[in-house]
Amino acid sequence: MTIGGGAPVVVQSMTNTDTADIAATVQQIADLARAGSELVRLTVNHESAAQAVPAIREALDAQGCHVPLVGDFHFNGHRLLTDYPECALALAKYRINPGNVGKGEKKDSQFATMIELACRYDRPVRIGVNWGSLDQEIVARMMDANARLAQPQDSGQIMYEAMVESAISSAERAEQLGLARDHIILSCKMSGVQDLIRVYRLLAARGNYALHLGLTEAGMGSKGIVASTAALAVLLQEGIGDTIRVSLTPEPGESRTREVVVAQEILQSMGLRSFAPMVTACPGCGRTTSDTFQHLAKDIQTYLREQMPVWRTQYPGIETMQVAVMGCVVNGPGESKHANIGISLPGSGERPAAPVYIDGEKVATLKGEGIAEQFKRMVDDYIAARYGQ
Ligand code: SF4
Repeated sequence: MTIGGGAPVVVQSMTNTDTADIAATVQQIADLARAGSELVRLTVNHESAAQAVPAIREALDAQGCHVPLVGDFHFNGHRLLTDYPECALALAKYRINPGNVGKGEKKDSQFATMIELACRYDRPVRIGVNWGSLDQEIVARMMDANARLAQPQDSGQIMYEAMVESAISSAERAEQLGLARDHIILSCKMSGVQDLIRVYRLLAARGNYALHLGLTEAGMGSKGIVASTAALAVLLQEGIGDTIRVSLTPEPGESRTREVVVAQEILQSMGLRSFAPMVTACPGCGRTTSDTFQHLAKDIQTYLREQMPVWRTQYPGIETMQVAVMGCVVNGPGESKHANIGISLPGSGERPAAPVYIDGEKVATLKGEGIAEQFKRMVDDYIAARYGQ
């Protein structure tokens, strides 16, 4: 797993189980990995969590799930990493929040302890600054310096610069302590879209560190997805960001894996990476005769994604496949021809027939009650024939 240096942008996620609950944490990590998370972070917040980490690693390996684990440390990370070397070794990477490593004199020594342990175990470190826990000593110092200027800057700008200063000065200190630059990843997470864009532009301009990108506390449902996408898309388009996480609050009963799917879809929609076949579907309109095409589009999309853990190895290249499910003849045939396989369902006033296109050619016209089932079988046959060799 490479982060930065021009490597493809890595998708990561974070558990929300109690790390000390080994069974629940193993289950959720396995689910996140199966959904396509390439790194999974878990909080290591107290001794029982640190004790659980090696067992979690072992249980995942036993079921063939080798996704790298990232330990999220705050306040007592120096002690947990020192006292539980097996935890330190079971983790592939450590996340340190420089705003939460201690106060006053202890701050430097506790940060140094964690970096020295990362060096000893040859582990990369994310220095993750967060708007909600920004080092107040840095803020106060920069605000004071700004106030002494003949023309002080806006306090919001000073806050952005304080975020970046916290990340960069911590990274420089880590390098002085012996951590290689290519073992350092930086983040400066904020919860406002424009704030995040501004701060990451400043951060990217300050050096060639790999960057972890994410809108913190993005929120729930469509708000969280839209805000994350808006922020990440602008920055990714500018080449900023080497690994991403979408911090969605799951709705009650919603799977934690949603954040992985959204992160993948951001990257795939932007043409930066491919993870799973994409379904192009029209929104439907007054020409649509029934909700058949909505059900078919949803069924096909769900089916394709659910099969991906197996198909990823069975059918190399399938992640770039395009499927079109369209509601009528206006755009249906055209969009279907652009896809690998597409169907144009009959709109109002049209003959009850659904032409199917494969690689730009019309190959069949489906009729009757079982159009959806027939089309799904054709998708299966196409996948086996095209990607099965
Ligand atoms: S393809 Fe047809 S049904 Fe779909 S939105 Fe366009 S006109 Fe409406």
